[in-house]
Amino acid sequence: MTNTGALWQNWARSESVRPARVERPTSVAAVQRAVIAAAKSGMPIKAVGSGHSFSGIAVAPGVLLDLADLSGIVGVDTATGRVTLAAGTRLHRIRGLLTPYGLALANMGDVDRQTISGATSTGTHGTGSAFGGLVTQIVGLTLVTGDGELLHVSETENAEIFPAARLGLGALGILVDVTIQCVPDFLLHAVEQAEPLGEVLDTFDERSRAADHFEFYWFPHTEKALTKTNTRLDPAAGRAPLAPVSRWIDDELLANGVFGALCTIGAVLPQSVPTINRVAERFMARREYTDASTRIFVSRRAVRFHEMEYALPIAAIPAAVREVRELIQRSGWRISFPIEVRSAAADDVWLSTAHGRETGYIAVHRFYREKPAEYFTAVEAIMRSHDGRPHWGKMHTRDAESLRETYPHFDDFVAVRDRLDPERRFTNRYLERVLGR
Ligand SMILES: Cc1cc2nc3c(=O)[nH]c(=O)nc-3n(C[C@H](O)[C@H](O)[C@H](O)COP(=O)(O)OP(=O)(O)OC[C@H]3O[C@@H](n4cnc5c(N)ncnc54)[C@H](O)[C@@H]3O)c2cc1C
Repeated sequence: MTNTGALWQNWARSESVRPARVERPTSVAAVQRAVIAAAKSGMPIKAVGSGHSFSGIAVAPGVLLDLADLSGIVGVDTATGRVTLAAGTRLHRIRGLLTPYGLALANMGDVDRQTISGATSTGTHGTGSAFGGLVTQIVGLTLVTGDGELLHVSETENAEIFPAARLGLGALGILVDVTIQCVPDFLLHAVEQAEPLGEVLDTFDERSRAADHFEFYWFPHTEKALTKTNTRLDPAAGRAPLAPVSRWIDDELLANGVFGALCTIGAVLPQSVPTINRVAERFMARREYTDASTRIFVSRRAVRFHEMEYALPIAAIPAAVREVRELIQRSGWRISFPIEVRSAAADDVWLSTAHGRETGYIAVHRFYREKPAEYFTAVEAIMRSHDGRPHWGKMHTRDAESLRETYPHFDDFVAVRDRLDPERRFTNRYLERVLGR
């Protein structure tokens, strides 16, 4: 299917483009034909997932490839738990696809609307000091390269490309499938409660290591953090889910409905934000429940926002959060959205934000109708002073020169890009900024 002229926008409404052409291939061969045709007409080409990146990484001014029709399971190896998924598969479909095999994804981020290719191409992660981001679950993949050829990459096939291609930023080619090392299905026992921010910061590293999955949210202008501690359990432990009504009140009405209305008020009347946040603090009731892993990892996010997230050496997290708190106090800004703090294990993927170091993440947000630049720029300066690495799919101002300093394999990645896409058929303005031309 081919379309022209329609406006594409990302989820956050921070990026938009009118692609010269939109194509929706229904086979791998059609993807190859699309890449070759784009090359002949001299147009750049880019696969786009569900547009959940806040940065301009998915902007496709030339040919936009929508892989929605390349979705579902391509193959399952039941002996190893390795599952090959077509590139356009949305994360929220994966649980249903894996359940018949008794398998699950080892870890997930906050939402599940993304595609497996989009999520891995930007380094999407959840939390857990012993767990890497989604890319660390990839054991193989297939790319269509700049010349339209198919390239299989894994630890044993074209292995020299593997550490680059697992997190390729969409710069190395079009992914047509991804093979994931799954784990036996599991439940999560969740404990959520409000705790004094100072105590949470003092014990962040320790608590992140002690729990399977620990994270916290801090609402600026308050002294409390909402901590979330999730413990992995065997399915035999049995589910003890939240009652549907209380889940709806907490997760839909308060987290989305009321919160959205409060953010709208806060955007018009910024002076009301500290009071609103203190009211929100009171609603942080303790909750304890056990449910399927996806129902606990994932939330629905109906209130649109802009986000910047930085990855820091985990030991730097308490100091960096305190510096952000002082910055907000000093500046007089009224910030309605919470700051989210998570962790991940070190990994060996060249452009992973957790490459080579145990990592903590600090994410800052602003309601999408508020201008984020002043706040994000000041927070970014703090993150840079701790050798922070920006999430590739979220807002930041870094360029190739500054990113090269923090990624030891930056030039190795660029060399792979030169090999697979010498004519820069998959580039866009964002990639030119962060990788160079
Ligand atoms: C509400 C919300 C919550 C979020 N929560 C988290 C979170 O908890 N943790 C986290 O780390 N991130 C989170 N993110 C960020 C998000 O996971 C990433 O930006 C992710 O890349 C979005 O996936 P997507 O499918 O929308 O990809 P897109 O944004 O559409 O594309 C991202 C990149 O992937 C490339 N790409 C897509 N498909 C292919 C393909 N087939 N071949 C090659 N390249 C391809 C695109 O070209 C682009 O470069 C969140 C974003 C939102 C909006």
